[in-house]
Amino acid sequence: QKFVYDFTEGNKDLKDLLGGKGANLAEMTNLGLPVPPGFTITTEACKVYLDSGSEPKQLRDEVSAHLEALEQKMDKKLGQADDPLLVSVRSGAKFSMPGMMDTVLNIGLSDVSVTGLAAQAGDDRFAWDSYRRLVQMFGKTVMGVDGDLFEEALEEAKRAKGADSDLGLGAEDLKQLVDDFKGIVLKETGREFPQEPREQMDLAVRAVFESWNTDRAKLYRRQERIPNDLGTAVNICSMVFGNLGPDSGTGVAFTRDPASGHQGVYGDYLQNAQGEDVVAGIRNTVPLADLEGIDKASYDQLLQIMETLETHYRDLCDIEFTIESGKLWMLQTRVGKRTAAAAFRIATQLVDQGLIDEAEALQRVNGAQLAQLMFPRFDDTALSGDARKAERIGWGIAASPGAAVGKAVFDSYTAVKWSRSGEKVILIRRETNPDDLNGMIAAEGILTSRGGKTSHAAVVARGMGKTCVCGAEELEVDTKRRRMTAKGPDGKGSIVIEEGDVVSIDGSSGKVYVGEVPVVPSPVVEYFEGRMHAGAEDADELVRAVHRIMAYADRVRRLRVRANADNAEDASRARRFGAQGIGLCRTEHMFLGERRELVEKLILADTEEERDDALSNLLPMQKRDFIELFEAMDGLPVTVRLLDPPLHEFLPDITELSVRVALAESRKDANENDLRLLQAVHKLHEQNPMLGLRGVRLGLVIPGLFTMQVRAIAEAAAQRKEAKGDPRAEIMIPLVGTVQELEIVRDDAEKVIADVQRETGVELKLALGTMIELPRAALTAGQIAEAAEFFSFGTNDLTQTVWGFSRDDVEASFFTAYLEKGIFGVSPFETIDRDGVGSLVRRAVEEGRATRPGLKLGVCGEHGGDPESVHFFHEVGLDYVSCSPFRIPVARLEAGRAAA
Ligand code: PEP
Ligand code: MG
Repeated sequence: QKFVYDFTEGNKDLKDLLGGKGANLAEMTNLGLPVPPGFTITTEACKVYLDSGSEPKQLRDEVSAHLEALEQKMDKKLGQADDPLLVSVRSGAKFSMPGMMDTVLNIGLSDVSVTGLAAQAGDDRFAWDSYRRLVQMFGKTVMGVDGDLFEEALEEAKRAKGADSDLGLGAEDLKQLVDDFKGIVLKETGREFPQEPREQMDLAVRAVFESWNTDRAKLYRRQERIPNDLGTAVNICSMVFGNLGPDSGTGVAFTRDPASGHQGVYGDYLQNAQGEDVVAGIRNTVPLADLEGIDKASYDQLLQIMETLETHYRDLCDIEFTIESGKLWMLQTRVGKRTAAAAFRIATQLVDQGLIDEAEALQRVNGAQLAQLMFPRFDDTALSGDARKAERIGWGIAASPGAAVGKAVFDSYTAVKWSRSGEKVILIRRETNPDDLNGMIAAEGILTSRGGKTSHAAVVARGMGKTCVCGAEELEVDTKRRRMTAKGPDGKGSIVIEEGDVVSIDGSSGKVYVGEVPVVPSPVVEYFEGRMHAGAEDADELVRAVHRIMAYADRVRRLRVRANADNAEDASRARRFGAQGIGLCRTEHMFLGERRELVEKLILADTEEERDDALSNLLPMQKRDFIELFEAMDGLPVTVRLLDPPLHEFLPDITELSVRVALAESRKDANENDLRLLQAVHKLHEQNPMLGLRGVRLGLVIPGLFTMQVRAIAEAAAQRKEAKGDPRAEIMIPLVGTVQELEIVRDDAEKVIADVQRETGVELKLALGTMIELPRAALTAGQIAEAAEFFSFGTNDLTQTVWGFSRDDVEASFFTAYLEKGIFGVSPFETIDRDGVGSLVRRAVEEGRATRPGLKLGVCGEHGGDPESVHFFHEVGLDYVSCSPFRIPVARLEAGRAAA
C-alpha cells in the first residue's frame, strides 16, 4: 500500500484517497498549470493513525523519498541554512470542511535558516515576519498553545511601536516578537519550539491527522452529514510567498459569479500578503479586476487559467492563487459552491456552451435547491440604499428556509396569545425545548441565539416547514426581561429589541433584521402557477433555466408524480405544478367543520335507523366533493382513500367534555346529548389510538360507513361520465394487515358499484386497492395482491410501526438527542430508512408483482416528496410518488435525476 503521492501522480478522481485539495492540486499539475511542487499523504495513512494511535510504519520512509525528490526539484533542502526550502502542511478531506482543520505555513524556518531566507530574499523583514508566523501557527495548532497569547503579544508590539497594522513592524521588532513567541511556547508547554525542520514537518502532519477529531470538526460533519471515518489527507507543498513586496500578493477567484452564475471576473486580491491575511480580513482586498492594473501579465495568465479550468472541469471553479515577485502560482481549485439560483443558471449556461449535456445538467441541480427557490423571499432592494427599511442585526444559521416578518415575542404563551388575536409573531428564544411547541406553531418564524442545524428549534421548524434561524450568537436574548440586544450598525453601540418590535428573519441566509423587510413571491412559483411564462420577453433568466431543467427531467423520468390533495383547489394547483393525478385523497378531511356533527350522529347512532339517517345525510356531501375533485383532475387518476383515522378524532376532547358534563350535573341540567356523547367518548377512548379502531377496521365494524363512501365515489364518477367527463377514480382501503380484511371490504364495494351501474346505466371501471402501511401487510404482500389492483405505500404509518416511533410525538421529544448522537443523520419520517422500512417496501414490491404482474405501485407517505426518498422509490420500481402540491416540482426534478 502506497501512502504518499506526488502531485504528478494523482488526479481529480482520487478524492477518497487524496482529499479534495490534493486531488485537484494533482489535476492542475498534470494540466501543466503552475502549481508549486509537492506531495500528498493519503487519507488511508490518517485512518491508520486515528485507529492505532501511530503512523503506518513505512510512512516515514515514503515521506523521506518524496521529500528528497522535492528537494532535488527545488534545488534546496528543507530548512537549509543558506537557502531554505519551506513547505506548507495543509489538511484536505474528501469534502471541504472550511476552517475546521489545521494548516501550518513556513515549515522549515529556524533560528539558522531565517537568516538564509533573509539573504536570499534580500529582505530581513520578510524573513522574520515568516518566522514569526510559523512560531505562532505551529505553537497554536501543533503545540496547543492558546492563540490569544500570541495575538496579545503582537498587539503589544504594535502598541509599543505606535503601529496600526503589522506592516508597521520592522525586522528588529519582528525578531523580538519571535523571541517573545518562543518564550510563550516554552512557558505554556514546557517544550522548546522545535528547530529541526523535519521534526517540524512530522509534528505538523500529525497535528493535521488529529484535527480530524476535534469537537468542532465532528460537529460540522454531523451537521453536514459527512461520514466520520473518511479521515483527512495532508498536502505538503513548497511555499511561495505573496508577502515579498508590492509585486507579490494573494487572491481568490471564481470562474463565474457564484451568486448569479454570470461569467466574468469575480474575486478579490490583496497585495503583499499571505493567504491567511485574506481570510482573517486584516486588510482590505481590492476587486480582482484591479489586478490588471497592478500586474497585467499575471492577470492575463490568471484569466487564461480560469478558462482552462472551467473547460476542463466543465463547471464553476473557485481558485486560490499567489503571485510571488511577479510569478503566478495556483494554490488550490475546486468545483465551487453556489447559490440555488446560480446552480440552475450555470447548468443551462454550460449546456449552451456545449460543455455538458442535458443528463449532466440534471445532476448539477437538486430538489433541495429547487425547494429553496420556491420560498417567498425578502426584497433585496429594500435592504440597501438610504431608503432601506430594515437594519441587519445578526447572522445565524440558516436552519429552515423562508422569509418571515413579525413582532418579537420571547415566550410561547405570548406567541400563542398574540397570534390568536391576529398578530404575526417571531418567537425568539435562547434555544427552544418541547414546551415551546405551541409557540413555534403559532409563530411565523423562530429565532434562537444558541444551537446548530440539529438543535431542537431547527429540527422541529424544518418538520413544520417553518422559517427558522438558529444560533445567532451575537444576539443577547433575555427572556426574563423580554428583550434582545444586538450590536449597533457597524458594530458600534447596541440596539435593544423589545417585545412587540418588528423583526424579519431570513431562513435561507440566516440573516436577522430589525424592522419589516418586504416579502416578494418567488418568481419560480409564479412560473409554476402559470402567472409567468418562461418564453415571455421579460421572463426572469432564472425562470427560463428552471423551465428548461424541468423539461429535461420530465423527458427522462420514469416515475409519475401525483398529489396528495382532497379538495378541488389543491387539486387544480397540483395540476398546474405538473401533478399527473391524485395519489391520496384523505376523505377524513371532508368530515371537518359543520359536517363533524353528522359524523358525531353516526357515531352516536343506537339504532339502524339513526345510523342510516346520518349516512344518508353524509352521502350527498361526499358525492359533491368527489365530483369537484374528479372534474379538477379530469382524465387523470384520483385515488380516494376510505375513512382512516380513529373516530374519537371527530368527537370532543375527553377531559373537556367530562368537565362540562360534571359542571352541568352539579347544576342538575346535564343534557341528554352530552351524556350520550360522553359515553361514546369513553367507549371509543383508546390508550393507543393509532393502533386502534381505525382504517379498514372502521369499515368492518361500522356498518354502512365504507359502502356509503364507495357509493358516493361511484355516483360521482357516473355523474361525471354523463357530463362527458373522464373520471378515473381508484378506491383505496387503509391500514390493511391481512388479505381477509380486504376481501370483505372489496366484496361489499363491488356490490355497491354494481348497484350504482344498474341504477345509473353508466358503466364504471373503479380500481380497488390498498395501502401498505403495516409491517404485516408488507410481509404478506403476495397474498394481499390477490385482492388488490394497486398498492400505495403509506410510509408514514409504516415508519411509525416498523420503528415503533409515534409519528406525532417523537420529532418534538427525543429525536433531537438521536440526531445529536448521530444515531441517524435525518429523521426517518423525513427521508426513507432504506435499510429497515425500505427493505420491507422492496420486498412487498417484488412479492406483489409476483402475484399480479400488472400491479400498480405508488407511495403516498410524506417521503413521496423527499428528494433522497424519490431516488429510492425509482430504484425499487414504483410507478409513481404522491406528495403535497408544493413538493410536486421537487419530486418531478428528483425523479428525472434518478432516471438520467
Ligand atoms: C401514511 O401512513 O403514509 C399515509 C399516507 O397515511 P396517513 O398519513 O394519512 O396516515
Ligand atoms: Mg397512514
